[in-house]
Amino acid sequence: MSDSIDPDGPSLESVSHASTGESMTAMHRISEETVAAVDGVLDYARERVLYADVPLDFPRSEEELRAEVGATITAEGIGAARATQLFGEVLAPACLSVDHPGYLSFIPSAPSRSAIAFDLIVSASAIYGGSWLEGAGAVHAENEALRWLASEFGLPETAGGVFVQGGTVGNLSALVTARDVAKRRRRTQGLPDPDRWRVICSAEAHSSVASAAGIMDIDVLPVPTGDDGRLHGEQVAEMLDVHPDSVIAVVATGGTTNFGIVDDIASISEITREHGVWLHVDGAYGLAAMLVESMRPVFAGVEHADSLIVDPHKWLFAPFDACALIYREPEHGRRAHTQEADYLEVLNGPAQWNPSDLAVQLTRRARGLPLWFSVATHGTDAYRAAVEHGITMAAFVADEIRRRPELSLVRDPQLSVVVFRREGWKIADYQAWSDKLLDDQIGFVVPSYHHGEPVLRFAIINPLTTPELLTRILDTLA
Ligand SMILES: *Cc1c(COP(=O)(O)O)cnc(C)c1O
Repeated sequence: MSDSIDPDGPSLESVSHASTGESMTAMHRISEETVAAVDGVLDYARERVLYADVPLDFPRSEEELRAEVGATITAEGIGAARATQLFGEVLAPACLSVDHPGYLSFIPSAPSRSAIAFDLIVSASAIYGGSWLEGAGAVHAENEALRWLASEFGLPETAGGVFVQGGTVGNLSALVTARDVAKRRRRTQGLPDPDRWRVICSAEAHSSVASAAGIMDIDVLPVPTGDDGRLHGEQVAEMLDVHPDSVIAVVATGGTTNFGIVDDIASISEITREHGVWLHVDGAYGLAAMLVESMRPVFAGVEHADSLIVDPHKWLFAPFDACALIYREPEHGRRAHTQEADYLEVLNGPAQWNPSDLAVQLTRRARGLPLWFSVATHGTDAYRAAVEHGITMAAFVADEIRRRPELSLVRDPQLSVVVFRREGWKIADYQAWSDKLLDDQIGFVVPSYHHGEPVLRFAIINPLTTPELLTRILDTLA
């Protein structure tokens, strides 16, 4: 290298004190300005985390936002005070608060205050969560949380996994692993790959399964469900008879997003074990219900899963975004996902637990830490009680609906999702009602569809969602 230095070129001295030096380090130096920026942000965050009454807020149009916010990306910067103010006064109020107790659409999120606060520490600590070499302490804590979940689901102590961005990435990563296992097996048997690989799931499975199959260029075999809405082992066996050599996995859903229906995992797991096919349980929303003792029988068979997912950002009170992906034998995930590159060799020594090796990702935030901190802080009993609240509230709403002649249940709730109709209403009536509920800042409940019929759907996660609030919303349907 020294040969290539131009003796007439800039000296090291002149490089570090070049005219741009001051502005070059301005963002990283401790100065009055950077301290004020940090204080401003932390003050804002502290206030938001401790809101007694979270505002529900409204979405706004692009035009309105552009007009009010103006140009924020400029050569000189607009300064922390101005940017924080714009966020607090214009941008944040144009985002729905998913932790509002009346936010009942889709699957809400209701992170504990301690989990949200700890997310700030995760950011402040500059941790690379992809490898043991770089993030041992964080990975250890994440693994504690994963081990707790795995034991709740009845998986062996050797099970392990990684927190990925969400259920979609979790399902994709698990299916990539399942295909890798199927391919290796056929190779050891001296067999070629089939023309197409396939995955079996219920017709009610989450859209992310089809999305993963699309990315992987494999086929989905959706099994229509009967009246109970559940996939059973018998139907899986029939499907496997038609496609004996090409199925990489069966996906059982542990709580459908639409209805909270749990597939018959026990009978499905009997068939997958008999046929030597990978069983993946998609419990992104519902598997958290296993923390409640009385719900455990509903999930019988989960203990036989080869892989499973559950989203802490749904019913485990962690902030976006986190999905726990757990393998019965993590080595399968490692074989499928470890990235090989010269610059990564140093990380891939024996006995290193590298979260990056278990899913489709490399760089990762230690996004499991807010869950770890929240469970470590409050204990598992508090978690069980908070999850049970959603189930209790769903049963309460179902009873209220049965008592009201203008309302009827589409199906009895199993977890914390309630789907029902307002007799005589068309989609326009539902939409007008939904808009008014949001305008009045009472709740966020968008119309949904069931077999082409417009319906309403409550998904209840938030421990601050009270019977009074739910009754008040139902009253507006009278
Ligand atoms: C939410 C959900 C997903 C997708 O999870 P994301 O975190 O949104 O990517 C997958 N499966 C089920 C059953 C879900 O409820």
